[in-house]
Amino acid sequence: MKKKGLILLDFDHTIFNTTLFVRLLKDALKPLGVTEEEFGQKREYLKDCCAVVDIDSFTLQLSSPYKKEMHDAIHHVIEQYGHSLVFKDALVFIRRHTAMGWDIVIVTKGNYELQTEKIAHSGLPEEVGVVITQERKDKAIAHIVEKYDVIHFVDDKAQHIDEVKKAFPKIITHFIKRPEDMPYGNEDSQCGCADDVILDLVWTIGEGVQNMQGNGHGPFK
Ligand SMILES: [Mg+2]
Repeated sequence: MKKKGLILLDFDHTIFNTTLFVRLLKDALKPLGVTEEEFGQKREYLKDCCAVVDIDSFTLQLSSPYKKEMHDAIHHVIEQYGHSLVFKDALVFIRRHTAMGWDIVIVTKGNYELQTEKIAHSGLPEEVGVVITQERKDKAIAHIVEKYDVIHFVDDKAQHIDEVKKAFPKIITHFIKRPEDMPYGNEDSQCGCADDVILDLVWTIGEGVQNMQGNGHGPFK
């Protein structure tokens, strides 16, 4: 089948309910002496200082002495719940577009171990590609985008949308703001670089977007 193009999907808060994931982690660590307050503070600290949060640096930051138990508890949450934390509409979107001939690649910025494990347990179709990066997303996708004429990019962070659109103006960018999972949804774009603001992935490329906010340019090409 001739390929229609490429869809680049962010992972956290875009196809994966990371707000609920964090909730489950807090619940799992509570019996090991980690309060919600400490969990929140240490997570924010690591995100601010180091850009990415890996499991060992996180558990080392926490005051609880049960380092191995906390490490195991985090892995257990991923193994047990990873599959159910993928938004149903995202899975259907991926399956539908794959069947239509689109290539799909997950592009996620974060710690390699943590992201690999979340993705491995998320039950995504095998043909979905994965790029895990600690650098800017526009740099991470540069080697892929040159192979395609039509590219869509979906992300819940305006900063990533802006960087990608500036580097590759031809990429059609979708700023996703899921009502139940949008911690960065109110950090708006600096350049108005999102082609659309969408609320979910209940739409099909080429058929326009039903669930859209703002001054979108749909229906898409
Ligand atoms: Mg995200």
